[in-house]
Amino acid sequence: MKKLPKIVIVGFPNVGKSTLFNRLLGEKKSLVHSLPGMTRDCIAGRCRLEGRTFQLVDTGGIFGTRDEPLSEKIREKAWEAARSGDIILFVVDGKRDLSPAEEELYFSMKKLDKPILVVVNKIDSLTGENRLAEYYRLGDKEIIGLSAEHKINIGELEERIASLLPASEAEGEVEALRIAVVGRINVGKSSLVNRLAGDEKLLVSELPGTTRDSTDTLILRDQKAFCLVDTAGIRKFSGADDDREKAGIVKAKTNINNADVICLVLDIREFPTRQDAHIAHLAAESGKPLVVALNKWDLVETDRVDPEAVRAKVRSKLEFVSYAPLVFVSAKSGQRIVRILDLAEQVYRNSRKRIETPRINEFLEWLNAERPPRSKDGSRIKVKYMTQQGTAPPTFILFGHSKSSLLPAYEKSLIGLLRAKFDFWGTPIRIFLRKS
Ligand code: GDP
Repeated sequence: MKKLPKIVIVGFPNVGKSTLFNRLLGEKKSLVHSLPGMTRDCIAGRCRLEGRTFQLVDTGGIFGTRDEPLSEKIREKAWEAARSGDIILFVVDGKRDLSPAEEELYFSMKKLDKPILVVVNKIDSLTGENRLAEYYRLGDKEIIGLSAEHKINIGELEERIASLLPASEAEGEVEALRIAVVGRINVGKSSLVNRLAGDEKLLVSELPGTTRDSTDTLILRDQKAFCLVDTAGIRKFSGADDDREKAGIVKAKTNINNADVICLVLDIREFPTRQDAHIAHLAAESGKPLVVALNKWDLVETDRVDPEAVRAKVRSKLEFVSYAPLVFVSAKSGQRIVRILDLAEQVYRNSRKRIETPRINEFLEWLNAERPPRSKDGSRIKVKYMTQQGTAPPTFILFGHSKSSLLPAYEKSLIGLLRAKFDFWGTPIRIFLRKS
């Protein structure tokens, strides 16, 4: 995933930051919309302008709505927000004079040495344009008068923004990584998604789900986009436990199909159950990379629970997904939840890895000498060559002298060897034997 350039809108209360944010987003049919009533410091959306994608951040929540001198804390937060951006839009109110505090904020932002565009908002008429002169004393050439509300001169700002953005990238490279959050009812899936979304460090927006019962939550972290697909709504399904379980499985299947990475959530106090295993099987069969999150860590007494013993339990009971990294989390306290995103990114990358032919040849040479392939009946198979046929999941083909299939135990150990050798942590691997 490539990082999206980030444009941060800053400015005093009531200058029209969020109107400008919505104007820039709305007209370009961004993928993201803020939800009314969101109380986060910053909200973000993805925008495309002249074929360039970027992330637009509104810092409205930092500044609040009250027109009063900025506190030290607010100034610090604003500075942080601006620092995280690549371009700053400094918005001022063209209907009133620049206040000394505003001017001070502007000059402190300038020290960041990033491109700053001064946007003089609420310039609704020609006479208003005369007022622009006042802002030239900020010493900047980049001053744009517009009206976010009345859609005046938005095009000029967009042009300026586009010219500052790095050259166009292919669509798709910056798509959000889709993570299906799956697991039994009550293991804490929704809590986990909500907590991730609510984390102050993250920027979030909700999108209507692809299906009626699920919600897609878009999170932007470190300028990377993640889309969490949650199975909200299963609980509402009224019926016998068995039926609910079935409904849960169907839902998990749909979400898995629509995702790049799977996050299987287990409740640390009770696992693995039959249904945990069932869902884990779906994950393994899908061939998609997997992260296992053991939730409700806050409920176990850490001095009585040995993480290594828990790991061993998962490995033995859910042996078929033992390739997946395991993370102990608490949706309640937020402990380590962000790690899920990091791991998801890592396993996704691993699943798309392609190994160069010379390295595969070298591995095969070693294999033939040290761990000669065995067929179902236990006899030795001479493998002449081996190729990586595909990625996601990494798929290898061994060309041998016979058509017989590999001994299952051998296949398992070979997969383990490939995983260790080429770091395919977190992704299933497929192997096929063919007659050459
Ligand atoms: P879902 O059905 O998997 O989406 O589960 P929910 O997110 O609705 O959570 C089920 C219950 O577990 C709720 O009562 C949550 O408050 C609780 N819960 C979720 N995560 C945690 C956690 O990390 N710690 C604790 N103590 N409770 C949690």
